[in-house]
Amino acid sequence: MNLQDKLAILADAAKYDASCASSGGVKRDSTQGRGLGSNEGMGICHSYAPDGRCISLLKILLTNFCQYDCLYCVNRVSSNVPRARFAVDEVVQLTLDFYRRNCIEGLFLSSGIIRSPDYTMEQVVEVARRLREEHDFRGYIHLKTIPDAAPELLERAGRYADRLSINIELPTEQSLGSLAPEKDVAAIKRSMARLRVHIDDAKAEAQDARRVSIVSMPKARPARAPAKSFAAAGQSTQMIVGADATDDATILSTSAQLYGAYRLKRVYYSAFSPIPDASSSLPLQAPPLVREHRLYQADWLMRFYGFAADEIASERTGGMLRLEVDPKLAWALAHPERFPVDLNRAPRELLLRVPGLGVKAVDRLLLARRVRRVRSEDLKRLHVPVQKVLPFVLLADHRPSRAPDVAEAVARAIPLPVQQASLF
Ligand code: SF4
Repeated sequence: MNLQDKLAILADAAKYDASCASSGGVKRDSTQGRGLGSNEGMGICHSYAPDGRCISLLKILLTNFCQYDCLYCVNRVSSNVPRARFAVDEVVQLTLDFYRRNCIEGLFLSSGIIRSPDYTMEQVVEVARRLREEHDFRGYIHLKTIPDAAPELLERAGRYADRLSINIELPTEQSLGSLAPEKDVAAIKRSMARLRVHIDDAKAEAQDARRVSIVSMPKARPARAPAKSFAAAGQSTQMIVGADATDDATILSTSAQLYGAYRLKRVYYSAFSPIPDASSSLPLQAPPLVREHRLYQADWLMRFYGFAADEIASERTGGMLRLEVDPKLAWALAHPERFPVDLNRAPRELLLRVPGLGVKAVDRLLLARRVRRVRSEDLKRLHVPVQKVLPFVLLADHRPSRAPDVAEAVARAIPLPVQQASLF
């Protein structure tokens, strides 16, 4: 099998991993002597670097052979798909070639499990090692790690990668037990905990090194060796949504627990896509994509807006997020007693709960109200969706009608509800 064919199979097999969003670009090249660079149309996806830049990554599997039989996965051992395997050198060479042609700024590498978790992880780490040590590759590297692999291998992976991720796969232990019986939630969490310790240690060491360099005389020799970095962009995970009957409240509470316990940078939600020859335990259709979108919005509320998971979805809300409105608006409609919020007096945490006010808008508002009382016309200058915000706020020249009326008015403005399809 030539490299191009392997790339077609192994880039396609990697597309189910949502840890970085794939983009459906058009194929372009400069082989006719026109233009600069090229877009091969496969395997290139985008991700966000720690500094917020959007970067292109070569997103591939080392191999889609796998000895495990996770029912939701197209690469499971019982799946009838074309298989391929890259040699370590081939991945290194592909990465360097794409990088030199300016197609990518980094590599996202995952793999099915062959021979053993340790053997597979060694191959994945070896790709990163050769890129860093033999080719002085300075691009971004994201490695998927295998939870059952030896701790030393995870430790080595972190030395070369910017980001490491371990997929939690499913929101509950029971679902994992029934759909991926060879996976062990305790091993997954143990590995996440190990990564957290390494990441925390590396950060503490880097801080110490900075402190030492600040107090040292400019020409003095550094008092200690520079701190070793370890997965500087942190760790992330992915959860499949809609492959089992778990509700949104449980999914969000699992995410909250993962953020709290292992300081994950991100939890990615991947809407289950039906696969060929699937097990009868799986739903026949994918969940509505808007559910995945609402989960990302809810996740954002937990990370940046001070919401607890059970405020966004709980038994009280039927366990599911509303699909027709974003979770913040849904929360505001369910809590008319918390509105209107006085934009000239309310503390930051209350401002963050107003539908339509983002973190940047709130910070700009706090600055603006230091110099004068905020009026309705100022909202436009703050680039906020005025119609969405007004029913929920008090301003120097604006007082909405009673909160319950506001809720009704906003509810009337909402388009017809989207019905969530029943999967089971
Ligand atoms: S271990 Fe990974 S690649 Fe293998 S079947 Fe399970 S999810 Fe798929």
